[in-house]
Amino acid sequence: MSDNASKVNTSKYQCRSCGGNMEFDPESQSLKCPFCSDTAPIERDEEKPAVHDYRTADTSASHNWGEEKRLIKCESCGAETMIDSAKSADFCAFCGSSHILTQEDTNPAIAPETVIPFKISKNQATEAFKQWISKKKFAPNALKSRHTMESISGVYMPFWSFDSKTESDYTAEKGTYYYTNEMKTFTDSDGKVQTREEKIRHTRWEKVAGNYIESFDDVNIVASDNVSQILAKDIEPYKLEELTKYDPRYISGFLAERYTVDIHQGWNMAKNEIDEEIASGIIEEIGGDEHRNLNVTTDYQTIDYKLMMLPIWISSYRFKDKVYNFLVNGQTGKVAGKAPTSWAKVLGLFGGIAGVTAIIILLIKLFGK
Ligand SMILES: [Zn+2]
Ligand SMILES: [Zn+2]
Repeated sequence: MSDNASKVNTSKYQCRSCGGNMEFDPESQSLKCPFCSDTAPIERDEEKPAVHDYRTADTSASHNWGEEKRLIKCESCGAETMIDSAKSADFCAFCGSSHILTQEDTNPAIAPETVIPFKISKNQATEAFKQWISKKKFAPNALKSRHTMESISGVYMPFWSFDSKTESDYTAEKGTYYYTNEMKTFTDSDGKVQTREEKIRHTRWEKVAGNYIESFDDVNIVASDNVSQILAKDIEPYKLEELTKYDPRYISGFLAERYTVDIHQGWNMAKNEIDEEIASGIIEEIGGDEHRNLNVTTDYQTIDYKLMMLPIWISSYRFKDKVYNFLVNGQTGKVAGKAPTSWAKVLGLFGGIAGVTAIIILLIKLFGK
């Protein structure tokens, strides 16, 4: 990752021994010089990360990332990442494309409040990838190549986190079951008309109204749509108790993805989750056997947010014009990914006549439904 260009550039985290550009080192949790390996500790800020008022975010949010960042945009997939201004990027972390442009940052991104620093090093992530791909029997050999191993990038992914105190007024109709015994006539197997007593269920409806209070903490929304949301879910959970106050030194040497889900879209998604929770809380409070015509008006008395940056190692590779992503949780080392299948290998597995029969059976299984 390091080149001479970054060495001559005077950076904020200049190595005191050789003047090089120091980067965050997951193994020592400190700044480390890639040229002479000298380290400089980062003292942890134990202070709880602050939250900010969502309603004034447009005018009061901080855009100060603590150091100069450059915004780059991938022409192939549209992903936007912030990189150290002294650095250059050779390829897009999300799709592997080399068509990357520096963008003018006309709408500066809100700065993160809190971060989980990388704990898994690039070597550990590469090792995890090697192990994972070696278990994929049918993956094409091209994937096991040196290039794929090398194009692994450490990216901080943005998440919105919302807290809200809510008070809701509701009206609804509550249904309670009751039963009556009624005489019913029926025709028996001999064709005779008979009568018998049957238990019939009815619903008694009554109007109900009430007031419901609930507080929500840490409703978290992935603020990126550049990696598959499914893959991103697969590397969860993160140990959020290890969140620490944002410090630009943790980002040094890594990419920071610029959110593609802005704060208002983020709040709308969080609000949907919150509204669903409120509705199920109210339904429980109403009780009864059924309900109908539920009408809820919610006052979101406080809405607080913070932007979190969580660490991911991403390897993206193109294979036959398709992009495949492979992710490693940068905190826990959990792996998720999808690999293409090499049909040549699948077919090669079945040799001879027995193989042909097996293939036919396989094809029937696959397409015979
Ligand atoms: Zn140095
Ligand atoms: Zn891209």
